[in-house]
Amino acid sequence: MLQQRSSRRHFSAKHLATNAFRELAAGLAEAGRAFYARGWVLGTSGNFSAIVAREPLRLAITSSGVDKGALTATQFLEIDENLNILGGSGAPSAEALLHLALVRARGAGAVLHTHSVWSTILSESFAGQGGLAISGYEMLKGLASVASHKHREWLPILENSQDMPELARQLEAILQRYPGSHGFLLRGHGLYTWGENLSEARRHVEILEFLLEVVGRTCGSARGHAAAV
Ligand SMILES: [Zn+2]
Repeated sequence: MLQQRSSRRHFSAKHLATNAFRELAAGLAEAGRAFYARGWVLGTSGNFSAIVAREPLRLAITSSGVDKGALTATQFLEIDENLNILGGSGAPSAEALLHLALVRARGAGAVLHTHSVWSTILSESFAGQGGLAISGYEMLKGLASVASHKHREWLPILENSQDMPELARQLEAILQRYPGSHGFLLRGHGLYTWGENLSEARRHVEILEFLLEVVGRTCGSARGHAAAV
């Protein structure tokens, strides 16, 4: 009798976890298609993840090489903290190590990565300064725990690399150095941001992409003005 109850509980927990994975994958797919429509994840660029369970860690993450404009909930994998595949089809993105680093260091519930035009341009323009400071804009208040346009958001810039274990180590150091940052840029590559859940992470993408475009257009028009006078 006892054994029966325990196996029912086990079945029930497993069943719930499967539903959680499916729901997260559907939410991530919907976010991905919306980002594609904005031009932030063209082609197969970008990747998205969300926590299915923390103990032990299980992450829903995009399969590598899938077209983000037609992203569906079936194009996600469930992985553990060692990149073992627990469910789904395909292979995890090479950048899964960065997602796992953000989950560990920031307690992120969701991590979203875009390859927008403005994050690509600005990550090159400001690479020499090691990051990009954004201040004075009302939209900053869309970032978690930010209450004023006077907030100074520092987006660190990391050199791009195909060596993911090394890049993950560098990211861990940057996250320790700038505990208040809501995102970072990979040089010539794109934006990473996160949130305590998918809706907060999605809001952070929208806010940061807006701010990057404002900074980029402002720099461009200032340069244009300087060239014209
Ligand atoms: Zn990328």
